[in-house]
Amino acid sequence: MSGNLLEVRDLKVHFPVKGGVLLRAKGANRAVDGVSLHIGRGETLGLVGESGCGKSTLGKAVVRLLKPTAGQILFDDIDLTDLSRREMKPVRRDVQMIFQDPAESLNSRLTVGSLISEAFEIHGIGDPVWRRERVARLLAQVGLPASAADRFPFEFSGGQRQRIGIARAIALEPKLVICDEPVSALDVSIQSQILNLLLDLQEEMGLSYLFIAHDLAVVKHISDRIAIMYLGQIMETGGADEIYETPRHPYTRALIAAIPEPDPTRRGRPKVVLEGDVPSPIHPPSGCVFHTRCSYAEERCRIEKPVLRDLIATDGGSRQVACHFDL
Ligand code: SF4
Repeated sequence: MSGNLLEVRDLKVHFPVKGGVLLRAKGANRAVDGVSLHIGRGETLGLVGESGCGKSTLGKAVVRLLKPTAGQILFDDIDLTDLSRREMKPVRRDVQMIFQDPAESLNSRLTVGSLISEAFEIHGIGDPVWRRERVARLLAQVGLPASAADRFPFEFSGGQRQRIGIARAIALEPKLVICDEPVSALDVSIQSQILNLLLDLQEEMGLSYLFIAHDLAVVKHISDRIAIMYLGQIMETGGADEIYETPRHPYTRALIAAIPEPDPTRRGRPKVVLEGDVPSPIHPPSGCVFHTRCSYAEERCRIEKPVLRDLIATDGGSRQVACHFDL
């Protein structure tokens, strides 16, 4: 058995772009374009990048809500890449997802109790009495009263709705949870409560997380390791503290520079301003995909794609960067 719970190898998710009168394929949106990553058991990998960089598409491909164009997804030593919906059903018990907007992910016509116990019905687990008791225990686990089971999602605040979403996700005692921007829509004070709840549940249940967010400060709080994604590709990976303290890729530096610094003694960090928008994944730049926004770009960067090469990590873990130069 591999030491990793999840291994993604050279994954591509391309969407055909159609045009013309006959709606013929004109090209492809390269939303995920050759991503490799891994997550250990009980580990959290933070996946960070600007909106539109392909991180949510990658998350959905990992749980096979989207079909990969190429590459391989290994989960718990099972190859998920080409499994049919029927073959995926038993795997879905072990891989769950938490979405950004709890209001959209919860059916407002069902009570909270019905929403949480849906998974038991789908997988034929327990009888109605067992399910009701289990729902009450799950609600307690996420900090909600048992009486919440008889109410509807719209009766709750945004933070409480995310707690309901988390209760649904952990109902089947999964091994891996894909958290897709789970706190982005919440107030800052509520964000930390939800992050702490996720950390507590991880400790209790031994969960692994793929934590997707655009905010590097939020990701650092919860992650063991971080992967930085830009235009469908990984730019840098490493331990959360290493990435934050000694970023090696110009894009990572720009993301860190954009974080407000509450500590006045650290305000002397050099500013790296990220100009312009993320280019279209339909026509990604040649060579290094970041070259159109990189202040270090040279002629080589426009021609040659940098490989994700290994660096020596000071924390003893793995560290990689996709840049031609040691900046
Ligand atoms: Fe910038 Fe060139 Fe490095 Fe890409 S390879 S990040 S363009 S310096």
